Amino acid sequence: MRGAIIGAMLALTGCAGGAAPVAPSAAAQSAPVAVSIVRDGDVWTAEYRFPRAAPVWAFIRSADAEATGRSWRAASWAVETPGVRLERIGRYDALVADSGNVPEVVRIRFTPFTDELRSDYVPALALGGGAVALFDDHFLLFSAPRDVVAGLPVDLTGQPIDDSGTRVTFRDSAGPLLHRGRRSPEVTTQNSNSYILFGARDPIVTDTMAAAIDPALPSWLADALRELTPAILSRYAAELGPAPGGPPTLLASWAGPTPGRASMNGGVVPGTIIMRFDGEGLVERNPEMINLARWFIAHEGSHFWLGQAVRYERSRDAWMLEGGADLLAIRTVQALDPAYDWKGEINRALRECAGLIENRGVASAEDRGQNRAYYACGAVFALVAEARSGRPYSAFVRGLVEANREDGVLTRDEWLDALDGVAGDPGLRADIETLLDQGSAQPRQALAALLRRAGIAHVVGENGLPRLQ
Ligand SMILES: [Zn+2]
Repeated sequence: MRGAIIGAMLALTGCAGGAAPVAPSAAAQSAPVAVSIVRDGDVWTAEYRFPRAAPVWAFIRSADAEATGRSWRAASWAVETPGVRLERIGRYDALVADSGNVPEVVRIRFTPFTDELRSDYVPALALGGGAVALFDDHFLLFSAPRDVVAGLPVDLTGQPIDDSGTRVTFRDSAGPLLHRGRRSPEVTTQNSNSYILFGARDPIVTDTMAAAIDPALPSWLADALRELTPAILSRYAAELGPAPGGPPTLLASWAGPTPGRASMNGGVVPGTIIMRFDGEGLVERNPEMINLARWFIAHEGSHFWLGQAVRYERSRDAWMLEGGADLLAIRTVQALDPAYDWKGEINRALRECAGLIENRGVASAEDRGQNRAYYACGAVFALVAEARSGRPYSAFVRGLVEANREDGVLTRDEWLDALDGVAGDPGLRADIETLLDQGSAQPRQALAALLRRAGIAHVVGENGLPRLQ
């Protein structure tokens, strides 16, 4: 992840596919909770059906609203069914029976909550013209006795709760929904961590991607996104094969011409890129923002393959995904824009990598808070694999994805084996392993030697730093 990007959404996605989803103890002893989310005109309702009797049903994701530090559900939900109320118990929002058990069917009316949460995804994104995307996992519930809920930590793993899953069904009386690249009258998800879009006006939907763009966005920006998004995502699909779980989708919204601002916030959930533009500085054409958006879509879009189709085994292997995403993005932007200075981007990576690995390996960068090493050094290693393969880097990645799609995990050895397969020189693997595990006493010279060995044309500056010319 890079660029002028924010807070809550990103903190969770962590940019790569390595992060585990919220996974409470999943002893599925009974049928799942079922909830039906319906928009009928301006009225939004959630109707819950519970598979078993319980006095308390609590919401798995119960982060507070960023602005108030209080429950966002309390501010935007109203329980219509008598005998049950919404209450805060410890760290959790909960549906609580006035006496005995919560009724089997509970109906709630709500207003989509579009403000930020503390360390969780925005519950709803307004995309203008009546289009609203809802995040499904905010509707998930578990049951547990009240005194247990009161003492639960944020991480529910291993806690004594009864979670049989929640099946969420979405419907809009006004027309089809858009979810993970497909339009349909009804969408059902279970623990999918995704946004379901209601009321999209003229979304772009192709076999390989979809995009819904706020009609209120400044037209130069909307036009740029309409052009860039299919160009980038369809290109990846052609190069890398189908994305897992359906065509990738981009949702772009406009926060308005806030005085003194020109910003883009972005985030990624499975299958979907979210971008939110804000500020008076974007009312007139702003080429810098086009470059930023282009890079963001190209880097994040590649993670649907390098991150979601295959993820890493351990976070210290992030260099395979982040460096790979950077080189895929570089090659993609280069293809779209002949004037793009791709060598400058590689040279930045060489310089940055050299500064982060003196006597310290790339793999342990997370331990010292230098995660940039995964991007910079990972991009250099990706360049080495590309150069030795004699083919575009996307072909190398496609091989990795196809070989590992089934178990979904790309290990460091699998990456290095693939390098051996194209390199015809076991010394390259050894050199990269040394940089991964130990770094180098002379990082600049070590990177220059690596480029030389890979046959990548470069010059060496007076300071010993190699660069492409
Ligand atoms: Zn990334």
